[in-house]
Amino acid sequence: MAGNGWDRNAVPLCAGAVLGGALVLEVFVVLFQLRHEDGDGHEHEKGQPFPFSSLVSLLFLLGNALENARRFITASPSTRGVMLAGAGQGWDYCYSCQTHVPPRCAHCFSCSVCVLRRDHHCTLLGQCLGYQNYRYFLCLLLHGAAALLFGCLLNAKVVMLLQQEETPVRTVLLLVVPWLMLLIGQVSFTTFIYAFVTDVCMVGFLFCTGFLLFHALLTLRGQTTKEWFEGDRQYNLGWWSNLQDVLGERWYLVWLSPFIASPLPGDGITFLTKKPKSEPLTKSRDY
Ligand SMILES: [Zn+2]
Ligand SMILES: [Zn+2]
Repeated sequence: MAGNGWDRNAVPLCAGAVLGGALVLEVFVVLFQLRHEDGDGHEHEKGQPFPFSSLVSLLFLLGNALENARRFITASPSTRGVMLAGAGQGWDYCYSCQTHVPPRCAHCFSCSVCVLRRDHHCTLLGQCLGYQNYRYFLCLLLHGAAALLFGCLLNAKVVMLLQQEETPVRTVLLLVVPWLMLLIGQVSFTTFIYAFVTDVCMVGFLFCTGFLLFHALLTLRGQTTKEWFEGDRQYNLGWWSNLQDVLGERWYLVWLSPFIASPLPGDGITFLTKKPKSEPLTKSRDY
């Protein structure tokens, strides 16, 4: 099974690693190049002071993103190895796994297994987003978005330095349609590369930020994506409890580092539900 899992995930993981690695390398090169140039684009003989703060910030963001990605993939939210003791209210039956499954659990046909509190299957990382790894997914998006914004700003600065002699319209055109500017011979290949990487980082940043905001909203509302589509808010216990359910007891610290322990209060099998407003405000546990 492990071999099959690797075969299934190999392509997206390798492609992501190569792309991410190339991007990181490029940003590091830019960071070190920039210290040799002043604001006017002229090279200093001795260079500027070593950019320790920028380097440390970038390493912090990248380290956080990579460790969160690793934990997201390895902290499997599947029902494999989980004792599912009998069926009850809200339980369903999975014909693929041939077993009863608890509320909010759903089968993933990409992973070929049922996933606790399943949200969706992340194709890029080849893993399902569920009960055990939600925290790492959110933190990966946060630190990934910040690192991409960092890379975007660094590359944009180089583009500005290279385009100092040009009009602002040409610079904007270069950033919006770099391929076209290269094809019609308006920019050098080096300038095109910096503009292209700026765009890639910007698109990645917008992608990560959009996903982060959407899932942050779902977390605050105590919903999965499927429940959001269906308008199901029975698991909404208030934003404080919702955050604890997903990010653990130390939800306010998990953003700093994936190494900070934050045990989840539940088991991924039973969930507290809230009755509709028209009914008395009593909480019951959904078995
Ligand atoms: Zn199943
Ligand atoms: Zn899956």
